[in-house]
Amino acid sequence: MRLVLVGPPGAGKGTQAQFIASHFAVPKISTGDIFRANVSQGTPLGLEARKFMDAGDLVPDEVTIGMVQDRLREDDAAEGFLLDGFPRNVHQAEVLDELLDRQGLRLDVVLELVVDDEEVVRRLSGRRTCRQCGHVWHLDFDPPTREGHCDRCGGELFQRDDDREDTIRHRLEVYAEQTSPLIGYYGDLGLLRGVDATGPVEDVTERAIAALHRFGD
Ligand code: ADP
Ligand code: AMP
Repeated sequence: MRLVLVGPPGAGKGTQAQFIASHFAVPKISTGDIFRANVSQGTPLGLEARKFMDAGDLVPDEVTIGMVQDRLREDDAAEGFLLDGFPRNVHQAEVLDELLDRQGLRLDVVLELVVDDEEVVRRLSGRRTCRQCGHVWHLDFDPPTREGHCDRCGGELFQRDDDREDTIRHRLEVYAEQTSPLIGYYGDLGLLRGVDATGPVEDVTERAIAALHRFGD
């Protein structure tokens, strides 16, 4: 299964990606996670990406596409993958199609997680991430039992710099202008499936997996 998840920041892509990827036994490839790992390790890629991430802008395609290309060449992605956060504009989508096409491959399906802007702002402003294990919590919807600490590993929770209110607004504009055209792009290719991404996490997972199985039949 070669699958792309799309949806606005805060739609729950990362949350759902882990369950969907494990259900279909494919690696989850999150460009946001790869960039953040590079930022925290202080690599040249991280230093370059950080300026754009902190501002809520997209990292330039030259940087992002090369990084994804390298990741897709790794052995675990040979039989399938779930992309979370890539592509983020039509140019990235076209390059991905070309990369796959050169190997005689194509995407199987693109799953859109549908939520409105108000819910996105609620989700992003309450998002807290564990510094140690990377698990994502929410202050209201999925709070840890001990404030500020991860239930899974005891690590410290932090708020992403790009989850501050003004940056959230800008990221939504970037999504509307640059990323949402992907819905039409993949719709025209007949690859798009949409699911309602509101309600409890488990319900969204169930709907997503059902939509993907329907597609696979
Ligand atoms: P994305 O990867 O699309 O940016 P995340 O998966 O990080 O989004 O989710 C954003 C925030 O919303 C997180 O704090 C997460 O815990 C919370 N969240 C995810 N799914 C739901 C849901 N179905 N209901 C309520 N909160 C959710
Ligand atoms: P995310 O974790 O998916 O919300 O991504 C966090 C940030 O990483 C984004 O706001 C961008 O700055 C950057 N980023 C992630 N994926 C991409 C991509 N495909 N293209 C450009 N920038 C990206």
